[in-house]
Amino acid sequence: MRRVYMDHNATTPVHPEVLEAMLPFFREQFGNASSIHWAGREVKKYLDEAREKVAALMNADPQEIVFTGCGTESDNMAIKGVAFTHQDKGRHIITSKVEHHAILHTCQFMQGMGYQVTYLSVDRDGLVDLEELRRSIRPDTVLVTIMFANNETGTIMPVREIGEICREKGVLFHTDAVQAVGKISIDLKRLPVDILSLSGHKLNTPKGIGAQFIRKGTKLSPLIHGGAQERNRRAGTENIPYIIGLGKACEIAMRDFDKRHEYLRNLRDRLQEGIFRAVPHVELNGHPVLRLPNTMNVSFLYVEGESLLLNLDLEGVAVSSGSACSSGSADASHVILAMGKSPLVAQSAIRFSLGLTNTPEDVDYVLEVVPRIIERLRAISPLYQKASRSKA
Ligand SMILES: *Cc1c(COP(=O)(O)O)cnc(C)c1O
Repeated sequence: MRRVYMDHNATTPVHPEVLEAMLPFFREQFGNASSIHWAGREVKKYLDEAREKVAALMNADPQEIVFTGCGTESDNMAIKGVAFTHQDKGRHIITSKVEHHAILHTCQFMQGMGYQVTYLSVDRDGLVDLEELRRSIRPDTVLVTIMFANNETGTIMPVREIGEICREKGVLFHTDAVQAVGKISIDLKRLPVDILSLSGHKLNTPKGIGAQFIRKGTKLSPLIHGGAQERNRRAGTENIPYIIGLGKACEIAMRDFDKRHEYLRNLRDRLQEGIFRAVPHVELNGHPVLRLPNTMNVSFLYVEGESLLLNLDLEGVAVSSGSACSSGSADASHVILAMGKSPLVAQSAIRFSLGLTNTPEDVDYVLEVVPRIIERLRAISPLYQKASRSKA
């Protein structure tokens, strides 16, 4: 049976060039980057290079990049780091209802610590309302944290406008850019963002490496205390092989940027057009245009997303319903509900997220399999029977 992986917003396969770049650092290049002798000095040189590559992808300065253990750690570091540092100013944080759990659960934790959190609503396309943001900023607001691009729908937030409002009001702005980095262009010399989080494994590195952009002059207390690594921003002996891998992944993302963007968007559009042509009663979730090139989230009305996912799996197709982190629970996606859609629409949502190894043949296979499964599931769906009877 054909196997098609279309869940790249959950994780991506390791790029062969990334793996190749990492291997020497599991073998002969084993030094500790803090050591003064040759073994350390050589590794330190490669560490610096990797930092330059990560910075270059986003037009940041290398000194503004800190390596972390994962995207989740970066998100935690931003929220807790800013909150602890700026306690004297206040204890209010603003975020949105459609964030990843790495942000939402950290905010809930902060509420338990006595902080107040405002969760901004979004419109039907998943965008925050800038006026609501402006109104929500208070004298005691210490941080606004709003994602760059949504992991479930691919909707791209108005990051520049959000940042401008934060600048004007003198509030720090963090963005979870885990899904955006490498997929859309980010120029941190021009974007008013103070802190930005990214993760390697959404960008073809192995899991367990992340980074944080911290704009020069931004005060942020560390999450992890210990040695003086990462300019005292994140203690612990650096995970050199993984850092090298992330550097390589960023280098490749920059080198192949236009080619990748176009390739993914063409494949995604071919999939989207095919689905909408072949299957009745489907609804796109997410902004039709302001969207990641690789992501398509659709609700197949009257069908349970979870059943569709399992049936696709039986046919070798890996996709996701809701967010990967909440699969296993029957809960409808908090993201799609926040977009004002009904629980029925939310429960029938499926995310297809494409990657570099997907081919037009993969898309054609999915387009052959999906209509068949939908027809079968709808034939046994009481909701569908009822709906089609009332229409007739
Ligand atoms: C995957 C993801 C994270 C978490 O990153 P990890 O490296 O898996 O911890 C955070 N935010 C978003 C938007 C993500 O998609």
